[in-house]
Amino acid sequence: MKHTKVKDLLNSTKTLQEVTAKGWVRTFRNNQFIALNDGSTIHNIQCVVDFENTPETTLKRITTGAAICVSGELVESQGAGQKYEIQVKKLEILGDSDAEKFPMQPKKHSLEFLRENAHLRVRTNAFGAIMRVRSVLSFAVHQYFQQKGFVYVNTPIITGSDAEGAGEMFQVSALPFDNTPRTEEGKVNYKEDFFGKQTNLTVSGQLEAETYAMALGQVYTFGPTFRAENSNTSRHLAEFWMIEPEVAFNDLADNMDLAEDFIKYVIKYAVDHCADDLKFLETRLADEEKQKPQAERSEMSLLEKLNFVLDNNFKRVSYTEAIDILKDSTPNKKKKFQYLIEEWGADLQSEHERFLVEKHFKSPVILFDYPAKIKAFYMRLNDNTEPGKETVRAMDILFPGIGEIVGGSQREERLDVLIEKMKTLGIDEEELWWYLDTRRFGTAVHSGFGLGFERLVLFVTGMGNIRDVIPFPRTPQNAEF
Ligand code: ATP
Ligand code: MG
Ligand code: MG
Ligand code: MG
Repeated sequence: MKHTKVKDLLNSTKTLQEVTAKGWVRTFRNNQFIALNDGSTIHNIQCVVDFENTPETTLKRITTGAAICVSGELVESQGAGQKYEIQVKKLEILGDSDAEKFPMQPKKHSLEFLRENAHLRVRTNAFGAIMRVRSVLSFAVHQYFQQKGFVYVNTPIITGSDAEGAGEMFQVSALPFDNTPRTEEGKVNYKEDFFGKQTNLTVSGQLEAETYAMALGQVYTFGPTFRAENSNTSRHLAEFWMIEPEVAFNDLADNMDLAEDFIKYVIKYAVDHCADDLKFLETRLADEEKQKPQAERSEMSLLEKLNFVLDNNFKRVSYTEAIDILKDSTPNKKKKFQYLIEEWGADLQSEHERFLVEKHFKSPVILFDYPAKIKAFYMRLNDNTEPGKETVRAMDILFPGIGEIVGGSQREERLDVLIEKMKTLGIDEEELWWYLDTRRFGTAVHSGFGLGFERLVLFVTGMGNIRDVIPFPRTPQNAEF
């Protein structure tokens, strides 16, 4: 039967029309009022059941979680907070729900409990809102790049390369488990794997994207990425989605401009297109803040935070300046946090990043020109740096509450310098022959960045844990669904 989405019913301009709606029961009060949700909006539509003319057997089956179809008149609602309701003339139970056993009763659940029920948690208001915002953001990502003429490139999921050189790869085997080729000592013989080649799940599509940028000019990837992060943080997943634009003839400054413009565009798009969901998440967050001691409460509401990012230029600060700031800020006295940074050359920990963003600059920060030693092999070496203090044209974008949201760089376009760098790091030139070809045939300045999509969703929804912004999170000991 033809039915109308709850969102369209609530936005209707006509009353007293015959309508049909389908969805799931959120609550059923006084044997008369059903709050019906179909996922199209955060709002439920109230359905008023003519209980005198509805058989007892049907009333009994209207339980939380049940799938139902209602037909009746759309009329103005007398109740507060809603414009319309349905005066139900016909009610059909499409699928029963055992209310006794249904774990998503409309009361507040802990996020831990909801994670264990990842297949059902989307039936709560909060997760419905998060997943709609995620979907809109994902659309905005494509819209931004497509409008600018970027070509969407699907880089391989199974690959032989480790772009980051961090060794956080999941090995891929093409053979059945019990047929895995072994060495004489009984170890897995990876050289024999995947039809004779060692492969892994991609940690980044960058190297492949670079080869495409050097022909198509401006490209982007947006796909799943895998990292064997055997740690439990609220910012890391073993499977996450990454957006990676790569642009020929762009240097580091162009790269920063692109990243800032892109982030602002997609956040603005969500603010404009997810008003109801963000309002709901904002209220939820405000309730959470109230539980905290006064001193730890966030001064800004969710929408104020998003607008703050939209209205202000990201602070651009070199790594060297940042280290000086961190050294100066290191408290001598006893303090809750230690911002101590040992020496120039050390990698920043997320507490350092968050200090710079939240306490010092009070703004998103783009840190650039990192020490070469702590960054990947493919980054452009800065000219004229002191021996021992070499820096590369890298940038990280740091966000409040998140830390690193983007990592990017201008790439080393000079074949000889790149080969030299690979040699010092022990990276096999033969294995990356295809990557080096981009420097052999028409090399040019180019740059790009990677943005972890879930970190963006985390920021926009105001959630605190990355596990709560992806439908089925993959973390250590968590791959059940
Ligand atoms: P981090 O320092 O947080 O571990 P990274 O420097 O290892 O991140 P990059 O290799 O620079 O990450 O990847 C680019 C972006 O991908 C990061 O800025 C971040 O937004 C995202 N990202 C990286 N690792 C993860 C992960 N395990 N889960 C979710 N997002 C991630
Ligand atoms: Mg990492
Ligand atoms: Mg990092
Ligand atoms: Mg990084």
